[in-house]
Amino acid sequence: MMYVLMIRLSNRMEKSRWQQIGICLFNTENLYILLYLRNTTKTSLYHMKTAFISDVHGNLEAFTSVCESIKQEHVDRIVFLGDIVGYGANPNECIELLQSLTNYAAAGNHDWAAAGRQSAHAFNAFAAEALEWTRATLTRENMLFLRSLPLSLDMREFLGVHASPSMPDRWRYVFNALDAEAVFGTFSHRLCFIAHTHCPVIFEKLVDAPVVPEFPAMAAFHPCGRYIINCGSVGQPRDGDPRASYGVYDTSDNRYHLVRVEYDLLSVQKKIRRAGLPDYLAYRLSVGR
Ligand code: ZN
Repeated sequence: MMYVLMIRLSNRMEKSRWQQIGICLFNTENLYILLYLRNTTKTSLYHMKTAFISDVHGNLEAFTSVCESIKQEHVDRIVFLGDIVGYGANPNECIELLQSLTNYAAAGNHDWAAAGRQSAHAFNAFAAEALEWTRATLTRENMLFLRSLPLSLDMREFLGVHASPSMPDRWRYVFNALDAEAVFGTFSHRLCFIAHTHCPVIFEKLVDAPVVPEFPAMAAFHPCGRYIINCGSVGQPRDGDPRASYGVYDTSDNRYHLVRVEYDLLSVQKKIRRAGLPDYLAYRLSVGR
């Protein structure tokens, strides 16, 4: 007897944007013939919609609210740009949630410091106190995970790095147009997604023009331009807006947008105080500084 089997392969995110349909013919002796396997999407397989998140800093409430929001964006993948721990009271839970979301994860300075890969001499008193607490709280498995994180993600469409792409292990900030101008020559990608300052911004570099910082909620990238994009911080925004922040970039239309998300701030502040972490770390979340 002959059987017909239809198979469908698709990417693993919800509401997948591509799939392949195959039809097999086989008989009871397990012989089969693959008739065809074809891509059924209208857009190319290589068009990707990506959510960029960073600087979660152990803030589980902000992270889970951002995850809920990302579901509405129907992205193909999530890219994490460093600092899953430091400051907040749920470092282990945030690491485990991150591991369930993506394999695309880069290290931040707090991650490497918590894992003992670098000294904390550049940390201020609040960060240093939180670092000690985090080191004492992390499980061995999660410490090893932090140790394993790479400094940068060299993707086909972009470079992803926590701090300045010029020397990622020096953890330099790219705050303004001058900082950005100095690093555009140090990488070859058209787009570079960064983090570290906790402030969303886009630096645009057009031919023979000075670098311009922009702060739009939406942007269409110029085909001849180069860009450094900071999507802000999930767990400790510092641009005066306390809502969690992340970015979405779609290669199909070359468009980017920033998303801000409310979360249960009071619960996070209670946890920080209950853990004995510095009170200032709870206070600053309410003012976004
Ligand atoms: Zn950070």
